Amino acid sequence: MSDESLDCLKCPAFCCRTAGYVEVSRNDIRRLAKFLDLTVREFEARHIVERNRKGSKRIKSGFGTCQFLGENRRCTVYEARPRDCRGYVCWNQEDTTVFEFARFFQKPVAELRKNDVDGKPR
Ligand code: SF4
Ligand code: SF4
Repeated sequence: MSDESLDCLKCPAFCCRTAGYVEVSRNDIRRLAKFLDLTVREFEARHIVERNRKGSKRIKSGFGTCQFLGENRRCTVYEARPRDCRGYVCWNQEDTTVFEFARFFQKPVAELRKNDVDGKPR
């Protein structure tokens, strides 16, 4: 966990590209299906990419980019996005991998240069 928050608008949405799987509850599925104008059955056939051994359903697998991430790096189902996605920010996670990655990406080049081992600009 970190005290530092990041600017999501400056990020290529690492969380939607990495950060593990996204599980969907029955309510999530109903809400997403409605948003996409699909029946629950149609939604599941098209958009459930993985099930765990207990039968939980996922719209994003652990290592893949989410199918709902748009080319503009925004969530295309934002209004109906799953509960898992709603509270998520990378800086309040115990596993700080995504946060570190996103933070590194947002560091200005000048700051990276300053921290070069030899201190010389490249
Ligand atoms: S990885 Fe972090 S900074 Fe980037 S969009 Fe996701 S929550 Fe925001
Ligand atoms: S549903 Fe939207 S917010 Fe959630 S992982 Fe996919 S693109 Fe990101």
